Amino acid sequence: MQAYCVKCREKRDMSSPRDEQTKNGKPIIKGTCGVCNTGLNIIGKTIAQMG
Ligand SMILES: [Zn+2]
Repeated sequence: MQAYCVKCREKRDMSSPRDEQTKNGKPIIKGTCGVCNTGLNIIGKTIAQMG
């Protein structure tokens, strides 16, 4: 799955994505940029929703 990387300033494939929850109880997918290893987040989604 892809997420926008602020460091690369491009959409990048997310490495090691995992489902977590924010403090507000919202779903969030956390992973790292496959290119620069910066943390990437997709707020409001689960891995299942992303297919
Ligand atoms: Zn990156």
